Amino acid sequence: MTGRGWLGIALAVLLLGGAAIAWVRFEGDAPSVEGPESLLIGSLGSVAFDIGDLGSGLREILISIRQADGETVVFERSFPGDLRSGGDAPGIPERFEIEIDPEALGLAHGDASLTVTARDWSWRNSFSGNETRREIPLTIDLKKPRIQVASGLTYVSRGGAGSVSYAINEETTRDGVMVGENFYRGFPAPGADTASGRRFALFAVPTDAPKGARIAVVAEDRAGNVATASWSVVLKERVLPDANITLPDRFLETKVRNLADAANIPQDDLIGAFDQINTALRAANEAKIRQIVANPSEAKLWDGAFTQLRNSKVTSKFAERRSYFVGGKKVSEATHFGYDLASTAGAPIEASNAGVVIFADDLGIYGNCVIIDHGLDLFSLYAHLSSMSVSVGDRVEKNGELGLSGATGLAGGDHLHFAILLGGTYVEPLEWWDPLWVKTHVDVHLSTPTR
Ligand SMILES: [Zn+2]
Repeated sequence: MTGRGWLGIALAVLLLGGAAIAWVRFEGDAPSVEGPESLLIGSLGSVAFDIGDLGSGLREILISIRQADGETVVFERSFPGDLRSGGDAPGIPERFEIEIDPEALGLAHGDASLTVTARDWSWRNSFSGNETRREIPLTIDLKKPRIQVASGLTYVSRGGAGSVSYAINEETTRDGVMVGENFYRGFPAPGADTASGRRFALFAVPTDAPKGARIAVVAEDRAGNVATASWSVVLKERVLPDANITLPDRFLETKVRNLADAANIPQDDLIGAFDQINTALRAANEAKIRQIVANPSEAKLWDGAFTQLRNSKVTSKFAERRSYFVGGKKVSEATHFGYDLASTAGAPIEASNAGVVIFADDLGIYGNCVIIDHGLDLFSLYAHLSSMSVSVGDRVEKNGELGLSGATGLAGGDHLHFAILLGGTYVEPLEWWDPLWVKTHVDVHLSTPTR
């Protein structure tokens, strides 16, 4: 072949190679932009987009918000690369999270639109790259929900319960009562029209709530705006009873051994085993109870006062701080969050009010235990039963039979351990057994019209 022939081939190869590069660099796949279809934000919001470009790599992202009077850039980024070889990074989709502070951006309450523009390193569009443009409707809600508390002066006691009637002018994601750091959820007011926005909440003052804990109605709307409203609540302090309990040897030898067996607690030291049952097993059982009561009925199932076990003698009261002794030495402590009621052995145990059985099984220190959901976050618990005649899902009427009393679980003798829970907090049963208290502290707020 002549020199010219070789030159011709070399030229052809160069041209072909150039054409191939040009073909690759001229790719037509626009960047991928994944994110929400629409957006609602409150006084502070955020939005995330997954953006990438596998063809020639990401070159630029621009995010802006447009409202009546103009457009504001909220995010801007360029990515290194060049037109010869494309983006430096491989262009795998990456998450970009953008904070939106409407006040700082000068945005107003109302409708707006958010635009995401992404470009790549392609030679298309006169070397400015393929472009993806996504416009998303954005609602800016800077108004807090309006809460109107209908209830008047309310008295509550440490360890006790209270209730409040209120109305909210918009849909909420969360509303109820804050007692210090504890939240008690609100429900549609029984019997009220949903459109009225009338709500009702029961709340508890935990025995360990800080002194002077703030009690207020709280509401959060869909945009995350939070409003609180106080009303007149007087918290009555009370002294919690103390009790010293001596553990008999036979209790350690039988009860503690049996419970330790069931819970896989070592038995070489029965006093240590008792302390583990009384602390670790108790905590595990309480955690389980909180799970069981996590999804209350939204309907009010109870009616009027709760009933106490017939012909029973109170042997231990609510929130008693117990110290346990063996041979004059303190070996453990716990707070007793219920009432111990003694009657004859194997006495019939009845539902203290109407509701639905949500638990009927063995529950560690509580032995055979029945839990009833009374609606609106109110529950009652019956422990140490010798037998149970109800199962989960059963509807029970007030005084309907649940089983027979016994001494299963951590019980020294035949008795009923009775407790009332409000949103996972134990409350003083005495209040709920008292028809006058139920009338003046609960029923009155159920029928209060919103001003
Ligand atoms: Zn008890």
